[in-house]
Amino acid sequence: MIEFHDVHKTYRVAGRDIPALHPTRLEVPRGQVFGIIGHSGAGKSTLLRLINRLEQPSGGKLIIDGEDVTAFNAGQLRRLRQQIGMIFQHFNLLSSRTVADNVALPLRLAGELQAREIDARVAELLARVGLADHARKYPAQLSGGQKQRVGIARALATQPKILLCDEATSALDPQTTASVLQLLAQINRELGLTIVLITHEMDVIRRVCDQVAVMDAGRIVEQGPVADVFLHPQHITTKRFVQESEHTDGDEQHDDFAHVPGRIVRLTFRGEATYAPLLGTVARETGVDYSILAGRIDRIKDSPYGQLTLAITGGDLDAAFARFAAADVHLEVLR
Ligand code: ADP
Repeated sequence: MIEFHDVHKTYRVAGRDIPALHPTRLEVPRGQVFGIIGHSGAGKSTLLRLINRLEQPSGGKLIIDGEDVTAFNAGQLRRLRQQIGMIFQHFNLLSSRTVADNVALPLRLAGELQAREIDARVAELLARVGLADHARKYPAQLSGGQKQRVGIARALATQPKILLCDEATSALDPQTTASVLQLLAQINRELGLTIVLITHEMDVIRRVCDQVAVMDAGRIVEQGPVADVFLHPQHITTKRFVQESEHTDGDEQHDDFAHVPGRIVRLTFRGEATYAPLLGTVARETGVDYSILAGRIDRIKDSPYGQLTLAITGGDLDAAFARFAAADVHLEVLR
């Protein structure tokens, strides 16, 4: 749905060049939720705003839905932007307009529907985001989560193919974040919409995204399916994001284990393997003993995973490792 072919962006400020995005290759498949994570200043917003051409690329080629949009003129850009909805961290609602009027605005601007058709579409959109009873309210009368739902309804008004989310849950509390992410996942499923979201929180990526790209200093430093990147991060920036989201500090943990005897391993279980009674079986069959040093079971989007750090002593270690491998459990020897 979206292809970056060496697209780059340099801002020129007071005679100085600021390279915000180095030449980047990126493919966002149709119908996926694609996450971009990075610290402040990494270039996420620049990348996102290049997609709907709120930013002009300094070079490279940008293809949207098979069409080269790099050299689009003003009229073509207007039509492109009707196909790309966007939601924002601070919602960007018009405070003097009702909820219904905020959602109707893009339809009125597009000028393609009659007033009655607009009313019907607005009612349908508000029902979809769970705000059917709030049409006549003003933004100030809504909670943060409700405001973002209005933002989502407005973004969907022109039936876009792509939805861009700019830190859409960063101003919300954890529970509201979860419900807004759930709504985005539902919209992705039901409408087949391609979603690109930027965030600085790995948890947001873990809950809704299919794929993730990690950005650092204007470059994508790592990308792939969320489960692969999250469970086996390679780049130092990715590792930090994962540690942050797990509330662990890798180095500290290793120090804590200094006095623990035996071989220290980390096992990663995915999918159904997460719930299999494997540890007991392997211990009985191979005579190894183990103590659990750290562990967690959680979900990546719809699929469960578990990660356990064990100290293993005694028995036939090689046989135990072979049994884990045969059960499709990823094993990493930490010491
Ligand atoms: P992020 O969204 O990851 O915080 P941005 O894309 O906003 O990163 O910024 C990337 C770099 O580009 C930063 O160094 C930022 O200061 C710079 N930048 C972003 N927008 C502009 C602009 N409109 N003018 C000049 N510099 C900008």
